[in-house]
Amino acid sequence: MQYPEPIARLIASYMNLPGIGQKTATRLAFYTIEMKDEVVTEFAKSLLSAKRDLSFCHICGNLTEEDPCSICRDKTRDQGTILVVEEAKDVMALEKVREYHGLYHVLHGVLSPMEGTGPEDINLASLISRLHNETVKEVIIATNATTEGEATAMYLSRLIKPAGIKVTRLAHGLSVGSDIEYADEVTLLKAVEGRREL
Ligand SMILES: [Zn+2]
Repeated sequence: MQYPEPIARLIASYMNLPGIGQKTATRLAFYTIEMKDEVVTEFAKSLLSAKRDLSFCHICGNLTEEDPCSICRDKTRDQGTILVVEEAKDVMALEKVREYHGLYHVLHGVLSPMEGTGPEDINLASLISRLHNETVKEVIIATNATTEGEATAMYLSRLIKPAGIKVTRLAHGLSVGSDIEYADEVTLLKAVEGRREL
């Protein structure tokens, strides 16, 4: 039996989400139909608002309601340090620690020859242009401790060091393969404090 068109569309929409297969999507779709009207309306509004009202900061690539983002606008932050992360959610994880007061740069990915992701496919050109600003003294690379994350760190280091800028890598209390977004605050704090020069 074919599902009616509206539910088939809803199932297809859920299947666009990562880790959601046909079975889960079907369960979620039928669950959604059972939900109260106002709950569904709120859900739909929050989806649209998250997409419409947020954009990426043109300076650092962080997710923001206002461009430039509040971190880039904050002149009390240490303008001499840029911490490089893979995803915007890593910025939020590190900001929770409250011990880092410099700036950020979000790559929106990592280099991955296996998946055909090269330097031009990530938010790298804008990082290099930020480094031409003389105030930057240190770049802290906080890509995840995966093969791609390490390779990206090495690539960045080779690219940036010749400009006379100190390049450091987060210390790994973070275990291999672990993601910054899942690390607890104490681990992250130690990782920032114990960063080593590349
Ligand atoms: Zn920004």
